[in-house]
Amino acid sequence: MLNKKQTKNWLHRFGYDYTNEPLSKALCGELAIEAKCDPSTLGSKGYGLAQMSALGFPIPPGFTIITEGCRNYYEKGERLAQEIWDQVVAELQLLEKATGKHFGGGPFPLLLSVRSGAKASMPGMMDTLLNLGLNDATTELLGHATNDFRFAYDGYRRFIEMYGSVIMGIDHHLFVEAIEAIKRQENIPLGAGLSLGALHTVIDRYKQIIFTHTGTTYPQDVFKQLKNSIAAIFASWNSPRAVTYRRLNQIDDQEGTAVTIQSMVFGNRGADSLTGVLFTRNPSTGAPTLFGEYLINAQGEELVSGLVTPQQITKQGRELIQAKEDSLEEKYPIIFSQLSHLASALEDHFGDMQDIEYTVEQGRLWLLQTRNGKRSASAAVKIAIDMMQEGKIDGQEVLKRIDYSDLERLLHPTLDPNQTIEVLTQGLPAAPGVASGLIAFSPEAVEAISKKEQVLLVREETSPDDIGSMAMAAGILTTKGGMTAHAAVVARGMGKPCICGAHAVTIDLPNQCLVIGQKKIPMGSYLTIDGTTGQVISGKVATIRQKPLPEFLTCMALADQTKRMAVRANAETVQDAAVALSFGISGIGLCRTEHMFFSPDRMRMFRKMILTSATASRVDLLAELMAVQKIDFKALFQVLNGLPITVRLLDPPLHEFLPSHPKEVADLVVQIERPLAEVEKRIAQLCEVNPMLGHRGARLAITFPEIYKMQLQALFEAALEVKQVALEIMLPLIFDAQEVIFLKKIIEELHQKIAPQIQYKVGIMIELPRAALQAATLAPLVDFFSIGTNDLTQTTLGISRDDGAKFLDVYRAKGLLKADPFVTLDQEGVGALIQIAVTRGRSAHPNLKIGICGEHGGDPSSIQFFESIGLDYISCSPYRVPIAKLAAAKARV
Ligand code: ADP
Ligand code: MG
Ligand code: MG
Repeated sequence: MLNKKQTKNWLHRFGYDYTNEPLSKALCGELAIEAKCDPSTLGSKGYGLAQMSALGFPIPPGFTIITEGCRNYYEKGERLAQEIWDQVVAELQLLEKATGKHFGGGPFPLLLSVRSGAKASMPGMMDTLLNLGLNDATTELLGHATNDFRFAYDGYRRFIEMYGSVIMGIDHHLFVEAIEAIKRQENIPLGAGLSLGALHTVIDRYKQIIFTHTGTTYPQDVFKQLKNSIAAIFASWNSPRAVTYRRLNQIDDQEGTAVTIQSMVFGNRGADSLTGVLFTRNPSTGAPTLFGEYLINAQGEELVSGLVTPQQITKQGRELIQAKEDSLEEKYPIIFSQLSHLASALEDHFGDMQDIEYTVEQGRLWLLQTRNGKRSASAAVKIAIDMMQEGKIDGQEVLKRIDYSDLERLLHPTLDPNQTIEVLTQGLPAAPGVASGLIAFSPEAVEAISKKEQVLLVREETSPDDIGSMAMAAGILTTKGGMTAHAAVVARGMGKPCICGAHAVTIDLPNQCLVIGQKKIPMGSYLTIDGTTGQVISGKVATIRQKPLPEFLTCMALADQTKRMAVRANAETVQDAAVALSFGISGIGLCRTEHMFFSPDRMRMFRKMILTSATASRVDLLAELMAVQKIDFKALFQVLNGLPITVRLLDPPLHEFLPSHPKEVADLVVQIERPLAEVEKRIAQLCEVNPMLGHRGARLAITFPEIYKMQLQALFEAALEVKQVALEIMLPLIFDAQEVIFLKKIIEELHQKIAPQIQYKVGIMIELPRAALQAATLAPLVDFFSIGTNDLTQTTLGISRDDGAKFLDVYRAKGLLKADPFVTLDQEGVGALIQIAVTRGRSAHPNLKIGICGEHGGDPSSIQFFESIGLDYISCSPYRVPIAKLAAAKARV
C-alpha cells in the first residue's frame, strides 16, 4: 500500500449492498472510494443515491463523478482529464462484477444511465442518457439474453434517439416525426408498441437522420459513447438554458455538475414493469398524503417529458381526478406498500418532503432518485407547519424553511366569487393561483407580448428550452402531461399558476388559435387559469385578495413569538392602516401628513394657502385644512384603538405641491381665483435649485410655523376627542439641537392650550449625517429616534433618490455595486452612521426608543442588520409587514 501513488479520487460509489451477485464487500472495501459525501461534491442526485445506498435501500449500483470533475473539465480547456477517465474505466470493471453483466459485450450486456446533477436541483436542465452501451452487436446480445428482441431493439431505438439529440445536437422532433410516420405506415394503433420489424425500420431511419444532419454516425464503441456523454454533461453546464436557470435562481456558475453513471434497470420489460415519480406529500397543496404517478411498461423519460398522461399511485389520487385507470395502490398493492414504506423512511431521514423516482423491473422495485421536492408556496408553508405539528421539526426550523416569496404568494389573489365565470374545461391543478393573460403558443410570442401585457403560455407540454418564457408568463397551461411533468415541476418552483393535461384543449397552430369544444380562441386573446382548481376560464376575470390561510396565521404567530423587534407599518389612510392591522402590527411607525393633502380638493386648498400672500386669508385657509386633517387623524386614531402612531409633521418642500406645467398653472389660477401674475411670481419664489436639500422639513416649520401649528392643533383636538391615543409627534430633517428646542416649544404651547390632559411623545427623524453624529446632544431632548433610511442614504452617499437610477444600474452591471442602496441598506456606510446614532443616542438617553422607517424596513437583509444593532422597531409599508415579521424572526434563529 505504501508504494501506491496517492491520486485524487474523482468517483463516489453507491448501490453495492443491493445487487444480485454475492459481491464481496472485501472487493469494494479494498478499492474504497472516499469522495466526500455531500451535495456540493456529489450533486443533489448523487448525494441522494449515496444516502439511499448507506440506508441499504434498493438502488441500482453505480458511481458518481464529483462536481470538481466539471471544474477540472473547464480548467483543462473543455477536456475530460485522462486521470478521471482511467478511474471510470477501472470502476466499470467493478460494476461488471457486481451486476454480472459486461459493458460492450455478452452474454448479458451492461447498460448504463448517464445522469447530470448539480447541488441545486435543476429539473431537466441537463439531459440524462439511458440505455448507453447498446450498439448493433450488444443489442442482438441483449435480445438473446432477455429472450425479448423487441425490448432490446426498442432500447436501442431509444438510445440512438437520445444520443442523437442530446449528444449530437440533432433536433429531437426529427426522430419523433420519423417514428410517427413509421407508425402510420405500419398502421400501428395508438399506444401499442412497435413490432420488431418496425423497430428495425425505425433504427435504420434514425441512422439516416443522424448521417444526413451530421455527416457522421454515433459511435459503435461503447467506451466512446460513455466518454462523449460525460463530456457532454460537463459541457451542458454552460448551455444557454442551464445558464438561464442559474441566473433566475441565483446559482453560482462555479458550482459545476456531477455525473452519475448507473447500471440500468428496466421499467419497460413488460406488464410487470413500470416507472414512476412520487412525492411524500402533495407538492401543490401540501396535503400529507403520498402523491405520484406511474406508467406501465415505460422508461422514466416518458413520464417527465409530459407526452403521455400517467396513472395515479394512490386510490385517493385517482378518485380525486376521476381517472379510470387503476392506481398503483389498487393494481400492485405489494409494490405500493414497499414504496410507501421506503418513501416515509426517506422523508424521515432527510427531514423534508421527498421527490422520489422509482422503477419496477419485472416485479422488483428500485429507487432511482430522491431529493427535497419542489413545492408550491402554500405547500411549502403547510408542509413545514405540519411537520412541526408532527414533531419532526421545531418552530425555528419552520421559520428557516419558509421563504419570503412563499409568504408573499400565500397572499396572492384568488377568483372573486361574486362574478359569473365561464369554465371552458378542467385540467390537472398543477400549481395553485389564478392567472389571466393573453394566450401565446411559443416562447417568442410570450416574449413579445410580455413586454406590454400579462401572458399565458399554452403548450402541449413544456421542455427545458421554455424556462425563460415560463419565467415571463403569468401562468402556464399544457394540454398533455401529468402533475409531475416538467411544466408542473417548474411552475411550482417559480410560483406560477399552472394547469397540466387539459386534454379538451387543442392548440391549432396553423390557425393560431386554441380550440376548446366548440369554442375557438385566437392567439392574443385573454384566458384565465385557476391552478388551484384546474379550471380553464374564458376571458379575464376579477380576483380578490384572499383571507389569510390558517397556515399563514400560524406562520405569523411563530414569527411573533420569535422576533424581538416590534413591527410597525407606514400608513396615512384608514384603509392602509386596516390592512396593516390585519397582519398584526404594533402601531404606525410613519404617518406622512402631506399624503393627507393629495386628494384633488385638498390639494386645491393647500395650493391656495401657500400661494396666498395675504395673511388674513391664509389664516382662513389654514383653518379649513385643520378641519380636514382633524377628521383624518380622528379616523386613524379610532382604527388604531390605542396603538401608538408616529405622526410626522409636514416634510416635503412646498414646491412639490405646485404645478410646473403652464397649462396646470392656468387651471390653478382659475380654481383659486387669483391673478396669473401673482401665482407665477409666488411659484418662482418657491422654486428651488435643489429642493431635496432645500427648504423642507423642520426648516419649513421654523420659517412658516403656521403650517405646523395647524397640524398640531388638528392632532391635539382629534386626540382630545378620541382619548385612547398613543400619540408620537415626529419632526423631520433635524440636524441640530436648537431646531428641536425651538419646535418643541411650539408643540408644548399648543399642547397646554388645547389638550393638556393628553399624553404625547416627541421624536425626531435621523436622516442627515449630522443628526446621526449629533445623536448624543439630540437624544436627551426627545423620546425617540426614527431613522429615515431613504434620506439618510441619499445624504450619506450624495446620491439623489430620483436621479440615481440612471447610473446606479450601470454601477451594478459593471459589478461596482452589489445592490441598490435604496433597496438594501448600505451597511458599511449608512449602517455605520446608524450604529453611531444608536450608540451615542442611547449613551445620552438610555431609554431612548429607536426604530427605522423607509423602504429598508421591508427588506430582509437590511432587517437582519437592524436586529443586529438592537433597534426597537422597524416600520414598513402595510403589505410588507408579513415579510418584515418573518425577516425579524429569521434574524433571531
Ligand atoms: P432528471 O434530472 O431530469 O430527473 P434523471 O437523471 O433522474 O433526470 O433521469 C430521468 C429518468 O431516467 C429517471 O426518472 C429515471 O426514470 C430514468 N433513469 C435514470 N437512471 C436510470 C437507471 N439507472 N435505470 C433506469 N432508469 C433510469
Ligand atoms: Mg430525476
Ligand atoms: Mg425623509
